Amino acid sequence: MAKAKAVLIHLECTECKSKNYTTAKNPTENKEKLRLNKFCKKCRKHTPHKEVKISKAKKK
Ligand SMILES: [Zn+2]
Repeated sequence: MAKAKAVLIHLECTECKSKNYTTAKNPTENKEKLRLNKFCKKCRKHTPHKEVKISKAKKK
């Protein structure tokens, strides 16, 4: 059976670095970094949002 493993990612505003959205993607199907135009509440306008990884492990 093929593994369909989706990972959760944040979409971060490239202007204010605010993480406004959380979404899931399949890294085996979608190797490119996501870049989407989304509405940023902080900037109060549409800005390019880029994918950032959600760090699950807490740093000691
Ligand atoms: Zn912003």
